[in-house]
Amino acid sequence: MDIIHLLPDSVANQIAAGEVIQRPASCLKELVENSLDAGATRIQVIVRDAGRTLLQVIDDGIGMSEMDARLAFERHATSKIREAQDLFSLRTMGFRGEALASICAVAQVEMTTRRAEDETGTLIEIHGSDVIRQEPCSCPVGTNIKVSNLFFNVPVRRKFLKTDQTELRNLLTEFYHIVLVYPKVSFTFVHNDEILLELPIGTEKQRIEAVFGNPKRNVYTSAFVDINTQTELVSVRGFVIKPENATKKAEQYFFVNGRYMRHPYFLKAVQTAYSGMLTADYQPSFFIYFDINPEAIDVNIHPTKTEIKFADEQAIFQILMASVREALGKFTLAPTIDFDTRGSIDIPVMPEQPVSKPTIHVDTTYNPFHTRGAIYPDKPTKGWETLYDGILEERPQSEITDDLLRPADVESCTLWQYGGKYILLPSANGLVMIHQHRAHAAVLFAQFAEQLANTQGAMQQLLFPEVLTLSQEDMVLIAQLLPDLKAIGFDLEQLSPDSYSINGIPAQLANQSAIPVLQQILQQVQERGADTQREWREQIALSLAETTAIPSGKSLTEPEMRDIVIRLVQLSNYRRTADGKTIVSLLTDEEINKRF
Ligand code: ADP
Ligand code: MG
Repeated sequence: MDIIHLLPDSVANQIAAGEVIQRPASCLKELVENSLDAGATRIQVIVRDAGRTLLQVIDDGIGMSEMDARLAFERHATSKIREAQDLFSLRTMGFRGEALASICAVAQVEMTTRRAEDETGTLIEIHGSDVIRQEPCSCPVGTNIKVSNLFFNVPVRRKFLKTDQTELRNLLTEFYHIVLVYPKVSFTFVHNDEILLELPIGTEKQRIEAVFGNPKRNVYTSAFVDINTQTELVSVRGFVIKPENATKKAEQYFFVNGRYMRHPYFLKAVQTAYSGMLTADYQPSFFIYFDINPEAIDVNIHPTKTEIKFADEQAIFQILMASVREALGKFTLAPTIDFDTRGSIDIPVMPEQPVSKPTIHVDTTYNPFHTRGAIYPDKPTKGWETLYDGILEERPQSEITDDLLRPADVESCTLWQYGGKYILLPSANGLVMIHQHRAHAAVLFAQFAEQLANTQGAMQQLLFPEVLTLSQEDMVLIAQLLPDLKAIGFDLEQLSPDSYSINGIPAQLANQSAIPVLQQILQQVQERGADTQREWREQIALSLAETTAIPSGKSLTEPEMRDIVIRLVQLSNYRRTADGKTIVSLLTDEEINKRF
């Protein structure tokens, strides 16, 4: 008996949809790219419930004929390539003819469309690949496509969606990637009847201002300098932030031939150009546009990937770094720099495949017969310890049942400070060296985490409130964090659609400005993709601990050192920071004796 059969189209489309349409943001990207490919000059995006119930894109592009309106939803139906050969010289955004077929497989789609030469337009409604109706209609030239109840027939996918705030943030991120390269197209973005972005036609710089700043004030872009380098290989243009205006929360954008891309190697080139010019933890913001012969890049044909491979990455690294340095006035480059000879500027070697060495921790003091409870029977268990769950799970068991330092030993022993950076003390096994900043940060982290869990952070009212200005994306993010920021002691009040007034700060921040701390929290939450309350609380506690911990280089009195060490050894895992850096290191007696 034959057992192989062809899947019905509706099933095949649903499977394919999983690849192309993972969340509302990917759907939005496909729709807006189609509008751009159709030559639209005005694109409106209307969203409800972060795209869960409605994603609508209205354009004034070329529209479709009655026949094409139906064909557009078939798989591999495209007006953009005809032969496999065309794939290599792509200039349009979409090309696989898969997006609309995928979207209509997993949503209820209603589209009206009309070409300029047609009297009447076409209305077509498709639910889960089934055509419900198709009829003539009267509508303006262009295409209006409404995607309702995404994943209505794929409960697993629906469940997989994150909170509305996260999905809205993803939508905005995707939207930024597009609008920043199309300043000659006007865009609006409406969410739940509120206009979040209104972007008129303008220059690239005006577009950046409209997204991240305020077009009436032009403060945002005045913090940037232009870069512009044309070579035979590549053209590099854009804007990089003046070092003195860098912040902890950076906007970092690379675009190539009108597409957003991620490129860690080129990011390194920009960071290298800034080296020595930024305060620790500050990041350069930049908007850099590359133009290159499409044959010299490999646009991953996977639609959801944003990594792009260049034929000559090392040369471009060099050009990019030189261009940024020149703009920053760090070097006045001779105009005849020869970009063809490699090695005139140090270039970090890029491994073909990033390989991370496995690290193995061996703890010689590990004794499997000691359990934590047996050593510290009276150790209090607090709610905040669950915050460490994720971290602890990844740690080798030996570190958790560590008994290197006991609180009793620490209370009476002698303590020294070394190099303004380390606390030294004797122990039963040798000389213990403690990194003072990390130790204090770990102690504070636990304390902040506990305060967060119990919503009992002490707040200090500010006499002169500070103003924090944010992008729409960050406005969404901060709204999500607001209850927890409040719990830890921030008193924030929304001032305008793009700013908050900081009226109070956690008491521990004392006289420090809250702005860099809040920026760092936003940056961390976003970078780490913290998406659950537990994860973002961890980032809030970490950022606060990092900022308020005593710095390296500060001299400490013996009571101060003792206080830190006693509090440190009470933590369930005090040898490493949450991100794996060493806090406590032991120079064993054996090692010491060997030296003599
Ligand atoms: P692709 O963009 O890869 O060709 P899609 O499934 O996204 O595949 O779209 C299929 C076809 O439908 C496109 O090639 C285009 O001809 C047509 N189309 C889609 N959206 C629009 C639009 N907004 N305006 C005009 N034509 C469109
Ligand atoms: Mg498309």
